[in-house]
Amino acid sequence: MLKVENVTFSYLAQTTITKANFTLEGGKSLAIIGESGCGKSTLLKLIYGLYDLEQGQIFWKDLEVLGPKYHLIPGMEYMKYLAQDFDLMPYITVAENVGKYLSNLYPETKKERITKLLEIVEMQEFANVKAKYLSGGQMQRVAIAKVLALEPEVLLLDEPFSHIDNFRKNSLRRKLFSYLKQKQITCIVATHDSTDVLSFADEVLVMQQGKIIEQGNPEFIFNNPKSHYVSSLFGDVNEIKIKEKIHFVYPHQLKVVSNSDLKITVSTSYFRGSHYLIEALYDKQVLFFESLIDYTKGEILFLDVVIIL
Ligand code: ADP
Ligand code: MG
Repeated sequence: MLKVENVTFSYLAQTTITKANFTLEGGKSLAIIGESGCGKSTLLKLIYGLYDLEQGQIFWKDLEVLGPKYHLIPGMEYMKYLAQDFDLMPYITVAENVGKYLSNLYPETKKERITKLLEIVEMQEFANVKAKYLSGGQMQRVAIAKVLALEPEVLLLDEPFSHIDNFRKNSLRRKLFSYLKQKQITCIVATHDSTDVLSFADEVLVMQQGKIIEQGNPEFIFNNPKSHYVSSLFGDVNEIKIKEKIHFVYPHQLKVVSNSDLKITVSTSYFRGSHYLIEALYDKQVLFFESLIDYTKGEILFLDVVIIL
């Protein structure tokens, strides 16, 4: 169990993390989401022990995470941290980078291990290529394999998919998270892209301006956003006033009906592959909804909310 208790931290005069509290069961995956600058990377670094806390304590099992004041080499042994800027050695090969910290005592075992890790990140073909020849996305994949190499108990990943093409992201995520589950590795992923999160995280933690404002399972947080800020992390969201109460409604929750109180005028249609995202005006307010049918500017339609949140 990872325990973050009442943690407060500042770089300068301004407080960056304020009274962060949460626990995470061993073997689970947690996603930290929030807008850029809200403190995700800082929180990961604190969990890893890169800075001294101003207040509070962090524990992994019964061990306290201690900062540089108490450790000559910052960072906890049983954890691995993948920084936003992955550090690979440019002049050695992909396989050498991944195996850098693995023991040379059993060369066959080491080779098998490297092959297995490169498979997870889909980089087998590049095993013998020097890291400097890789694209940003490829480097990021090798960096992921490298932090997995030593089978940490806790893995901290900072924006691990930020440079990876969309078409590869899904299969990489599936492979990575099934590997982590199989090995029962506890994982925390910081990301500004919440779509990264919904399919794999056991839990989500939402941060805003250095504070944890929500923690829960992804489906619950997605379906019951407490504020516009939370729902907007999941994409375009509509704020619709129904019977004096404001509801946060996602575009896929609005559908065209023959008649309703929600009378709108279409302003623009965006082709999104599987559907159209329609921008419309409702009483001077801009609304977005998804539709399988394309509509043209000026069309007047009625909408209904499929699920009221
Ligand atoms: P996120 O990862 O959510 O984008 P960060 O944790 O990187 O957010 O940053 C949180 C806040 O702390 C930001 O206002 C950022 O400018 C500030 N900050 C981050 N790193 C440092 C640093 N080394 N020194 C001073 N301020 C920093
Ligand atoms: Mg960050």
